[in-house]
Amino acid sequence: MSKELLAVKNLKQYFPIKGGILGRTVNVVKAVDDISFSVHEGETVSIVGESGCGKSTTGRAILRLDEPTAGEILFEGTDLLSLNKAQMTRRRKDLQMIFQDPYASLNPRKTALQVLEEAMDIQNVVPKKDRRGRAIELLETVGLAAYQAYRYPHEFSGGQRQRIGIARALSVNPKLIISDEAVSALDVSIQAQVLNLMKSLQKEFKLTYLFISHDLGVVRHISDRIIVMYLGTIVEIADKHSLFRRPQHPYTRALLSAIPTLDPERKKERIILKGDVPSPINPPSGCRFHTRCIYATDRCRSETPMLREVVERGGHQAACHYIEEISVGTLEKV
Ligand code: SF4
Repeated sequence: MSKELLAVKNLKQYFPIKGGILGRTVNVVKAVDDISFSVHEGETVSIVGESGCGKSTTGRAILRLDEPTAGEILFEGTDLLSLNKAQMTRRRKDLQMIFQDPYASLNPRKTALQVLEEAMDIQNVVPKKDRRGRAIELLETVGLAAYQAYRYPHEFSGGQRQRIGIARALSVNPKLIISDEAVSALDVSIQAQVLNLMKSLQKEFKLTYLFISHDLGVVRHISDRIIVMYLGTIVEIADKHSLFRRPQHPYTRALLSAIPTLDPERKKERIILKGDVPSPINPPSGCRFHTRCIYATDRCRSETPMLREVVERGGHQAACHYIEEISVGTLEKV
């Protein structure tokens, strides 16, 4: 396996809720609660889950856009949380983010060319005299024409704006790109074009992706490995084929059962989750999924399941007390 590029260890991201006249902390939102995973060079690792599961918070915490509460974020062996502000700004050259809404992340008063030149200027990655040429080259690499370099964000379509966002990320020669719902707002046909572009750029620029999405169809297209999150914790990690062929955690099984399929047999197996995702302010005790799980027992309500290897094939992990019983059908549904 290739070299480990990123290792997230015991990451916690809590947000205080202030209240009262004195503005004291009255409660805490546990958006991400003690997660660990790694990403290897050249890999695409996706994080999936419903809204509020902590996937975007994880991406922002890695880049320290929000300061994590606890944990380690090792990038090429250096803990990013140990860096001061100036050191972190320099290091961000290696870790870039592509956002869901490129319109909001692009300055409306700057042309596509200026957006890219500014990014290169901040990180000082290309000699000043070469920046214009490099910017135009990058716009062409992501499928835009040189003459479009002088246009403003509102003159582009959503898909084209996302291409500018990708070109901006590439302009500083990053090693890791964190893509936060980057194609969610696009039409399906445009989504496919942008995903294919990202895949070809990965080869060309030797990129590593951390791909955050709520859409399992999209994740299936692009990932090598998939992390499933639920209410701030990781419930399953596996390579793409193992996860789609043999999902182990009841939550992952429910998510996969909701993907539309032409197979009439699979349609019958759809698992409908009970209720909504509980609040991350007071998450359920024991297994956080127990309030919606069709297999929950008293043990699930009191004992937190650890992430453990569950399939003989290497690396497929899930956090559930009863994986084996569920697989062979000996655990009763409630
Ligand atoms: Fe369901 Fe219990 Fe497994 Fe949690 S530990 S997923 S509640 S069976």
